[in-house]
Amino acid sequence: MARIVLDNVAHSYEAKPQADADWALKPSDHVWEHGGAYALLGPSGCGKTTLLNIISGLVVPTRGRILFDDIDVTHLPTEKRNIAQVFQFPVIYDTVTVAENLAFPLRNRGMSREAAMARVKEIARLLELTHDLPRKARGLTADAKQKISLGRGLVRPDVAAILFDEPLTVIDPHLKWELRSALKEIHRKLDVTMIYVTHDQTEALTFADTVVVMHEGQVVQVGTPDELFDRPAHTFVGHFIGSPGMNLLPCAVDGDTARIAGHSVKLGRRYDGLAGRIELGVRPEFAALSNAGEGLPVRIKQIDDLGRTRIARLDLAGFPIAATVPPDTDVSGDAGIVAFNPAKVFIYADGRLVA
Ligand code: ADP
Ligand code: MG
Repeated sequence: MARIVLDNVAHSYEAKPQADADWALKPSDHVWEHGGAYALLGPSGCGKTTLLNIISGLVVPTRGRILFDDIDVTHLPTEKRNIAQVFQFPVIYDTVTVAENLAFPLRNRGMSREAAMARVKEIARLLELTHDLPRKARGLTADAKQKISLGRGLVRPDVAAILFDEPLTVIDPHLKWELRSALKEIHRKLDVTMIYVTHDQTEALTFADTVVVMHEGQVVQVGTPDELFDRPAHTFVGHFIGSPGMNLLPCAVDGDTARIAGHSVKLGRRYDGLAGRIELGVRPEFAALSNAGEGLPVRIKQIDDLGRTRIARLDLAGFPIAATVPPDTDVSGDAGIVAFNPAKVFIYADGRLVA
């Protein structure tokens, strides 16, 4: 069990990093509290695997320290860190049984055969592998093999943390949902820190209590799924989380008014002394299309019927935006008015939320 601290950790795969882009992981401070269910979310190439491998010890960071319960483990090899890691593709022994595959991490650390098998049965039940236990791993489906990999990650009762690196990539979509639920249940039972890497927001938001969002080698926000939706700390989070994502419009701000392409938008508060590249952010859920009244003139390009709601794709002075279509709005023409809920409008400077 451990509280994991990243103390000013940065990593470059270059021998002599110079430009910003040479750093796969930019200087990061982060605490993973003991027992948390974390998702590490971000697009391909943003540094998730690098960060995970620094925690597990597969990568020694160029700069900074990793602490497990205040002990510096930066230069300790993986075996000494008491960490389990599950990779994207199955890592199993084809020639032995599923039970032996699952028991391996336990037997390897000297657990008796009886104790190991009791534990293996428990994990197999959670992953619905019980029937496969006596079978040789060879010849199992890709799904079943990846379940064994997950099981090997979960089987040790003594680990400080379990790290999952996009473990459900090769898994069939309907099984994905079941396995995610199983992982959540296991997390509740085991009282272990889990860090789950994914580029899929649905996976992240359903698995995790806390989501750590990465973008271009940096953690840009840490929060609950609700916090990421309600108050994106970075334009990337606004755009990446949500479907469709947050509307982002370049603007100029004067006190409590934003100006977008010659139109004024009332803000929920005053902003003074802004500097940098200024954008207004508002989620489609808080932008409403109407036929008349206060708001910005837009051209209606397309209406997406999502069942419970309708989303309009609009053009606002050359900028594409999305808005909710209230039931009484007539969308038969191509002109409309869009109005934002001022309490849900945020201002960003150089991508960062102006607090
Ligand atoms: P993610 O897991 O989010 O897709 P990675 O941590 O794998 O991102 O990669 C982050 C950046 O580091 C990428 O630009 C990638 O090309 C680079 N990178 C990753 N592994 C290596 C490596 N072993 N050698 C050189 N560059 C690497
Ligand atoms: Mg990766």
